[in-house]
Amino acid sequence: MRFGKFELISLSDGIMRVDGGAMFGVVPRVFWEKTNQPDEKNRISIGVNPLLIKADGCNILVDTGNGDKFSEKLLKIYGIERDTALLESLSDAGLRPEGIDIVINTHLHFDHCGGNTFVDKSGKLQPTFPNARYIVQKAEWEDATNTNELTKASYLPENYMPLMDAGYVDILDGNIELFPGVTVVMTPGHNRGHQSVKIESEGKTAFFLGDMIPTAAHIPLSYIMGYDLYPLELLEVKRKILREALEGDWLMIFEHDPETRMGYLKEANGKLTIIPSLSSNKADKY
Ligand SMILES: [Zn+2]
Repeated sequence: MRFGKFELISLSDGIMRVDGGAMFGVVPRVFWEKTNQPDEKNRISIGVNPLLIKADGCNILVDTGNGDKFSEKLLKIYGIERDTALLESLSDAGLRPEGIDIVINTHLHFDHCGGNTFVDKSGKLQPTFPNARYIVQKAEWEDATNTNELTKASYLPENYMPLMDAGYVDILDGNIELFPGVTVVMTPGHNRGHQSVKIESEGKTAFFLGDMIPTAAHIPLSYIMGYDLYPLELLEVKRKILREALEGDWLMIFEHDPETRMGYLKEANGKLTIIPSLSSNKADKY
């Protein structure tokens, strides 16, 4: 999609199946099952959709999906299916991994940075994007390298430690414009160091939400995931961002929605909803 001076392309690294209850936190199943029908194990399908921002002279990739380092057993546990893998999707967009200049990791949970590295023929971990700088927030780096019983299953060091050791990582602290019109914005709540990405051009704004609002179904303020570590902080961040998005007519970009990749926020009868502007019916296949 053309967006001012940029091209925004929602890529795909397949899908995963996660517990519906964990995805919707305190919201009872009778509400969320209307839009997200669970399977016999109570799991719902979600998309894994990194974003490619093509700018004049700079290609920026936001998140890298689950990658291909998982064992069969873990693929099964997380219900990961990569019918379309990130690099194929990137190739469809006309780019090779060497063409990526910046990789932004919204955070370092495995479904957002699994494609940061790959195992080469000699069994060594290598950067998937050899010419890129990888961008991570300081708070997130601290948490990813000091895990506890609650957080450790989400952080897999093979996705980021080899990059740090080889000098590929830039640690930022707070909101920073990385390229004219592309700014990382702190949106804590899912975890402490979560960042989203704001894209501004020719008077228009788009916002890649990451896990702050993972799907269009999570627009209502109380729809906060069981996975979110700081729910009350997230509630206030959501309130602020949604107000700004509505006033500024932002294009909202969802990383985990199985159908609606992008859409505009509209208020009707005091309720916020998303009018899709880009959707795939991939989910129908599963
Ligand atoms: Zn996620």
